[in-house]
Amino acid sequence: MEHVLIIVAIVVVVGGGGGAALVAPRLRSRRHPSSAVGQRETGTDGAVSTLEPPVGQTGTVAPPESGVPTEPPPARARPIERPPPSAGRMARLRGRLARSQSALGSVLLTLLSTGNLDEQAWEEIEDTLITADMGVGPARQIVEQLRTEVKVTGSRDPVEVRALLRADLLAQLGPDMDRTLHTKPHGDRPAVILVVGVNGTGKTTACGRLARALVGDGQTVLLGAADTFRAAAVDQLQTWGERVGAQVVRSDREGADPASVAFTAVNEGIERGIDTVIVDTAGRLHTKAGLMDELGKIKRVIEKHGTVDEVLLVLDATTGQNGLRQARVFAEVTNVTGIILTKLDGTAKGGIVIAVQRELGVPVKLVGLGEGPDDLAPFDPEVFVDAIVGD
Ligand code: GDP
Repeated sequence: MEHVLIIVAIVVVVGGGGGAALVAPRLRSRRHPSSAVGQRETGTDGAVSTLEPPVGQTGTVAPPESGVPTEPPPARARPIERPPPSAGRMARLRGRLARSQSALGSVLLTLLSTGNLDEQAWEEIEDTLITADMGVGPARQIVEQLRTEVKVTGSRDPVEVRALLRADLLAQLGPDMDRTLHTKPHGDRPAVILVVGVNGTGKTTACGRLARALVGDGQTVLLGAADTFRAAAVDQLQTWGERVGAQVVRSDREGADPASVAFTAVNEGIERGIDTVIVDTAGRLHTKAGLMDELGKIKRVIEKHGTVDEVLLVLDATTGQNGLRQARVFAEVTNVTGIILTKLDGTAKGGIVIAVQRELGVPVKLVGLGEGPDDLAPFDPEVFVDAIVGD
């Protein structure tokens, strides 16, 4: 213990003297005039780090407990990118959705447009909806609704049938759910977004893309790499940050305390007048108790500074029931406020959007529609339904 403190003390003295060991960008600051750059900050464990970043450079800040500060990154090889704004992105990516989801729509429309809608045809429609991962309850509701409407209107006209199907699918998607992302700062404090989910779902990519989207919308962003057990994830996040000029708080020690990284990230966000802090968390935990402990601790230390504005759960749309099971566990251990559904481009089973919203009672806020850096879009139910049923 003693030697750890000595190392930390040396770091503080060296870092405080020259400021060369910690590199971070100076961003627009909302700080009070009394708070100077280079001011000392006390971390969760009482350790102190001093932050004196050079102007206009993206870089890294090590959290207090990490022992050895991260080396400054090499000189930037490429200029900072200017991502496009996020509005209307799902409409732009509609072609991707149509490619993956239109098979569902065309099967349904073909069945609905036949002159002979007998019991077997309705069963096939219900099966098609269930096969698209919609869940039995919503599939039954849609079929019952359609049956009534078709009986009342007596219509087999493809245009009318399409309109009925569109309306019923849309109703199941909860078009009135609030899908706003709460990313606006609170006075001097940044908004804080925790991103949670199992490894492999696209969590780190989602953090990076979300940072890009927010930068594209004109906000300043800081990324906290609290998934400290995966060096590759930390490096990946740093690359995302560097591309758009977002500062990254990371620890150079694998397995460092995630809560300490999260604490430092939010602290830095406050110090530098950042609008939104996005914290990537570990997804390797398979026991509920461990997950609860870790996410609970991260939340508690962040709440020393204020509130956690969003807990976004990342789910892989291609994993079906398995994804729903994961969703249930995360919802039990933390207060999920929104879902990021990734890889929707890679499955015809778009019904998972309806199933997961039902399961958790929270909206899908963002969807991943490809492997490109700007393929994360705010979820728009109308665009989604149009991609299924066509125009
Ligand atoms: P993590 O382990 O949950 O952090 O997952 P990563 O962020 O490393 O992503 C795992 C893989 O999924 C990477 O190859 C990503 O490019 C890919 N991926 C993430 N989101 C999407 C998406 O929306 N569509 C597709 N097709 N691939 C995605």
